[in-house]
Amino acid sequence: MNKTIIFAPYILTMEGDKPNILCDYALWIKGKNIHEILPQSQAKNVSDANVLHLNNHVLMPGLINLHSHGSMSLLRGFADDLALQDWLNNHIWPAEGKHVDHEFVYDGMLLAMAEMIRSGTTCVNDMYFFNADVAKAGLRMGMRTFVGASVLEFPNRYANNADEYINRAMSERCAFFGDDLVQFVLAPHAPYTVSDETFKKVIALAENEDMLIHCHIHETENEVSGSVTEHKVRPLKRLDNLGLLSERLIAAHMVHLNDDEIELVAKRGVSVAHNPSSNMKLASGFAPVQQMLDKGVNVGLGTDGAASNNKLDMFAEMRLAALIAKGFSGSPTALKAYDTLKMATINGARALHIDDKVGSLSVGKRADVIAIDLSEIETQPLFDPVSHLVYAAGREQVSHVWINGECVLSDRVLTRIDIAQIKEKALAWTKRIKI
Ligand SMILES: [Zn+2]
Repeated sequence: MNKTIIFAPYILTMEGDKPNILCDYALWIKGKNIHEILPQSQAKNVSDANVLHLNNHVLMPGLINLHSHGSMSLLRGFADDLALQDWLNNHIWPAEGKHVDHEFVYDGMLLAMAEMIRSGTTCVNDMYFFNADVAKAGLRMGMRTFVGASVLEFPNRYANNADEYINRAMSERCAFFGDDLVQFVLAPHAPYTVSDETFKKVIALAENEDMLIHCHIHETENEVSGSVTEHKVRPLKRLDNLGLLSERLIAAHMVHLNDDEIELVAKRGVSVAHNPSSNMKLASGFAPVQQMLDKGVNVGLGTDGAASNNKLDMFAEMRLAALIAKGFSGSPTALKAYDTLKMATINGARALHIDDKVGSLSVGKRADVIAIDLSEIETQPLFDPVSHLVYAAGREQVSHVWINGECVLSDRVLTRIDIAQIKEKALAWTKRIKI
């Protein structure tokens, strides 16, 4: 059994509504779990564990990326500076139609996960196709993976129609059912790509199988006005009439919301995945994050795919989320640093219904832990680790990552995979996609 005790000057537990920083404590991992968090004076007496001294570091829970399309990392920088519909219809969907298969998804996911782990992300809520390959990549990298099985009305290389997307995903799910790291999620793509009938099937299936649902909602103004033209109601109202809005739902984006819709989302217990970089890059708009939090909506944070970001960097997302919330609301007290860290940790865990397992550091929870070196000049002087983690530190300062108790990044080196292999695959795909 893996036994490690980590000594660090700061442990940010992310337990509670106010920052809880333990100074000069040690975190003891046994097997998959956090066995104990104890003062260093007592920890010195522990003999039965590997000892790691991280003398310039803060330990905190691993970051949870609540909305991503990992495999799209292979399309990073392929089409930029375009509006969402132009970008999707004329660039991304045609490229996916040509290239996305088992190999693309697996290789792309490894590339994404390597980047995510090096950025301090321990858990991803993904959404794509060829779901078994996403799951296999998660197991290969030892990463906590929510495999969002996309459902659309139109065909691609994975399936021909909505029923096929669902049936294929459900049969792929069997091989991974009950796995500690991998869980399948139903992911109807968006209101503008999924029919009422399909939404109803997804809702019924989610209830029968006790599954979460992940969907892009109210991302752009066009989506909202298109729904008013086609369905005579805004997308959220239509989805609520169908019964989609519930605690099972993780709604990605939620940029264009009026006050009544924020109330409704809070009442139904929907969780929101906020993606500030993607929303800025595609000029989708400013999500009313502080207003949602004020009404009690659980808001987490995501990167979206690397084709629309183009980084899978939760540190960048945290900083941008905090800055945009202030600029958008006109209030410098909006989205404080600690609340931003909560979005990237415990709120993400809550959205995925795993807050009893991860999202904060407490005894008995899974050891999904990251260490950030704050001794670099970029984070000097150091008055408050919480401030630096959001406003000053970069992902390059993540030195170690543990997932389920296993060290998957040690001194910036991925322990499970040779990075040269991942680069080679990325190069091979660049050549294929370019042709
Ligand atoms: Zn997305």
